[in-house]
Amino acid sequence: MSELSPVLTQATPVTVCRGEGMYLYDAADVRYLDFTAGVGVTSTGHCHPRVVAAAQEQVARLIHGQYTTVMHEPLLELADQLGSVLPSGLDSLFFSNSGSEAIEAAVRLARHATGKPNVVVFDGSFHGRTMGAAALTTASTRYRAGIGPLMPGVAVAPFPAAYRLGLSEDAAVEFALRGLDYVLATVTAPAETAALLVEPILGEGGYVPAPPGFLAGLRERADHHGMLLILDEVQTGFGRTGHFWAHQHEPVVRPDILVTAKGLASGFPLSAIAAPTELMRRAWPGSQGGTYGGNAVACAAALATLAVIREENLVENAATQGERLLTALRAGALGEPGIGDVRGRGLMVGIEFRTPEGTPDRDTATRVQRAAADLGLLLLTCGPYGNVVRMMPALVVTAEQIDAAVVLWSKALARVSGDVGQGKGTDSVR
Ligand code: PMP
Repeated sequence: MSELSPVLTQATPVTVCRGEGMYLYDAADVRYLDFTAGVGVTSTGHCHPRVVAAAQEQVARLIHGQYTTVMHEPLLELADQLGSVLPSGLDSLFFSNSGSEAIEAAVRLARHATGKPNVVVFDGSFHGRTMGAAALTTASTRYRAGIGPLMPGVAVAPFPAAYRLGLSEDAAVEFALRGLDYVLATVTAPAETAALLVEPILGEGGYVPAPPGFLAGLRERADHHGMLLILDEVQTGFGRTGHFWAHQHEPVVRPDILVTAKGLASGFPLSAIAAPTELMRRAWPGSQGGTYGGNAVACAAALATLAVIREENLVENAATQGERLLTALRAGALGEPGIGDVRGRGLMVGIEFRTPEGTPDRDTATRVQRAAADLGLLLLTCGPYGNVVRMMPALVVTAEQIDAAVVLWSKALARVSGDVGQGKGTDSVR
């Protein structure tokens, strides 16, 4: 007998047997409304018929056409088709399997292309768990502690997390950009800084959108100092925030390297970096490759995902339903002193819990998340203190499903505040 590692923890007690659209089902056929989407991955919902058909057809035709040995059709077709959604000029692609791998490929490219060693990241960011990506991640010590020494050449500048800083959005942007200038003056000189690496919305770090002006400020500094701007859109991309890419909420911003994964293939492991061809050419020969990258079935699923997003107007749906969700959650939070902030863009919404003293309240966030699962609504928490509950349903979510989730959320909140009122402990409600 063997079993899963005890260190691999699970946010809900649910074991699922099948998924369909917005729902997951356990062995007893109990239905759960899934507002986690496999951590933002199943963009077209569970087992979208178009994605299933494309993957099934591809499995029967060719499963693996290793891309440093032979080229295959789905990969070439996907590279071509992504051109219709990528920011203009980012016309060259390298594919891998996970977000972490793609992040490391982006950093390798930046170092090769600029001949400079250092990268600036922003506090609270998550860029992955592999050793290089962990060195770039500051969303929590649990991704870094005890595994070092980590990759050197990483400097950390402030992220404009207005609520955490207790500042207005404008003041937070000013604070963060000045902080970056200070880091460039004191820690890593522009002449040794290859790139600025940033998430347009902190994901694992607490669902914190960069307020207007921040990304534009980064672009300005990158141009001024000859540094590259790498946007990590692993969680925010592929329509999730109501634009195809989250940085498009700020039209003047243009990445030099864009990193995508998660929603790209509706659940198949696939990631990519996109850059202008002349920049990609500066990667050293042999520095890009991998056994499984650009897997044929994953590429076929990604092509179907793109078609579904386009034909079902899922980017527009993400904007509309996201607004509906945010508005309802904000209205529901009015009478809840334990909720300090409700924020988000599109279908990426976070609810931050605080104690009466104003400190992060992980305990209540966890209990509400568990109560919701018990009531049939699957959610996750995030943030450095684990006190933010996040909602990221698939892009196919309907208004009725948003309303149903809001009702379940209110019930979960009521259940937990009832427990608090009666002085009950912190045990799971299950
Ligand atoms: N970047 C961001 C913004 C992410 O949210 C994640 C995953 N949560 C990663 C990188 C790493 O992706 P993966 O887990 O596929 O390595």
